Amino acid sequence: MTKTVPFVLSMDCERVNPGKPFYPAGPRTAKESARNIAAFLDIARETGFPVTLFLTPEAAALHAGYLKRLDPAMVEFGLHLHPRTFAHGISESLGLLEASMQESLLREATEAVEKALNRRPVSFRAGFYSANADTFRILKSLGYRYSSTTVPGRYKPAYGIDWRHIGAEPAEIGGIWECPLSASPTRRLPDVAAATRTLLGGMTAFLPGRRRPAASLLRSAIALGRAVRAAIRPGPDIDPASLQIEHRDHRLRVAISREILSMTATPVLVCTTHNDVDFAHPRSPHAAALRRYLHWLRHRAGITPAPVLLRDARKLMSERT
Ligand SMILES: [Zn+2]
Repeated sequence: MTKTVPFVLSMDCERVNPGKPFYPAGPRTAKESARNIAAFLDIARETGFPVTLFLTPEAAALHAGYLKRLDPAMVEFGLHLHPRTFAHGISESLGLLEASMQESLLREATEAVEKALNRRPVSFRAGFYSANADTFRILKSLGYRYSSTTVPGRYKPAYGIDWRHIGAEPAEIGGIWECPLSASPTRRLPDVAAATRTLLGGMTAFLPGRRRPAASLLRSAIALGRAVRAAIRPGPDIDPASLQIEHRDHRLRVAISREILSMTATPVLVCTTHNDVDFAHPRSPHAAALRRYLHWLRHRAGITPAPVLLRDARKLMSERT
């Protein structure tokens, strides 16, 4: 007998970002964004998978005409918020902001999406998966009911992310039903970028011509040692890119999905991608990988995926039990 598993296919739709290097990247042009979203939805439709779009207010406004014509049974509009790219451009991540600031940003962003699409979102995903207990409480007060903002095991305190206590199963947080991204808490990848930064920083301390006190050199030596160790051993973080629908880590994603199925009593698979990933080109490797992935889910996984919008996943789970 196969296991029936709710499956949420999602896309984070960032604002258009013509060449600015900072995170989040976003598509370079409005046309590119529109093309990728439409092509992604087409592939999902072909294979019978509904899609939850997490929209930044800018993306909701930009594509309002197109989005409003979509079938609400097949496409849900959730809110995606990066404080950095919204309104006043606050550089901190959501999970580091005071509750009052979070409240005003979330309220403003929710109203902007509602105004653009004539539908108030009930599902949410924080930019960079950064949130804290206040975030969930505020979401509840604004009428939200569902969220997919946690990544099991992800820990980046500098960005307000601490999901070390989060497991792979959905859970109630502050009155919101939180459905974690399908990441495995046991499969951890090294944070290569951070290790490289520390490594380079440590090495410059020993360049000739730089006089530094012994204590400072010792600190640098310790940091250097730690960086080398971090680069060799798996770090404390999970690379979210490996969980996205991109061709380069297709095998890893499949392994993770299997692992999650075996380790949780009530699994929900949540997969995600972004609107700057090219799904439109006839030879797009991402489109091919997405088709393969959905096909694998349908036919080879030993499971029966129940494709569902995030807002309907909880109801589906309670019907099953
Ligand atoms: Zn984002």
